Amino acid sequence: MERKKMIEVKNLVKKYGDFTAVKGISFEVFEGEIFGLLGPNGAGKSTTLEIIETLREKTSGEITVDGFNLDENPAAIKKIIGVQLQTAGYYPNLNLVELIELFGGLYNQPVNPKELLEAFNLEDKAKAKFKALSGGQKQRFSIATTLINKPKIIFLDEPTTGLDPQARRNLWDLIKEVRAQGTTVVITTHYMDEAEILCDRCAIVDSGNIIAMDSPDALIDKLVAGGFERPKPVKQANLEDVFIHLTGKELRDS
Ligand code: ADP
Repeated sequence: MERKKMIEVKNLVKKYGDFTAVKGISFEVFEGEIFGLLGPNGAGKSTTLEIIETLREKTSGEITVDGFNLDENPAAIKKIIGVQLQTAGYYPNLNLVELIELFGGLYNQPVNPKELLEAFNLEDKAKAKFKALSGGQKQRFSIATTLINKPKIIFLDEPTTGLDPQARRNLWDLIKEVRAQGTTVVITTHYMDEAEILCDRCAIVDSGNIIAMDSPDALIDKLVAGGFERPKPVKQANLEDVFIHLTGKELRDS
């Protein structure tokens, strides 16, 4: 069966003055997958995401999201997507429950703050202010808030940057859970271990071009088939395994 395309990007170009940050990229995201945009800093990942999110103007190209054309119907697209707010967007004097209720009101959606906080291991923080949360808790909360308008697609821009290994693993589980509920996820990261674990398919972006796109498995197989070998035999474990073995998988900040 043909999978439904949730996002179609064709020949997307973005210029900032004389500088072309995105150079005619095309890709598709299918319903129910976790799709990764991978690449070094400055590759054009955030620019691409923000254009699809209707937050930035494109220079040229065609974009449709769940069948809605970005040029013709940005309002319809806004309604079916969930976007992580920048940290500064959380009113400092409101606690987590009040923030969720506020967003629910803005989206005109009934919300159950307790249920949402529980799903993201934040039930103990219901009465806490956003600024009092740890890094991992802030990330969990901001992902939780992307779900308030019951979106079909959520966009996560480097969701695990700065988190400790336990918090990263916990967030990976939560993101997989969001997919399991039927939500399509588009994520940017420059952590390849994260992409390998999370992404069904990914595009590798470099200097505004997509230079490879496939499942992580297929990309690795292709490299190996081309004769690539790691320079030295890999040990049975790495330092992160040591760290997790010694300190456990339990979240420290919940
Ligand atoms: P990434 O998310 O992959 O790190 P970005 O999309 O943030 O990359 O940036 C891509 C390129 O565009 C970078 O060289 C960046 O400096 C440039 N850029 C991003 N935003 C602007 C802007 N508002 N004005 C000018 N240049 C920008």
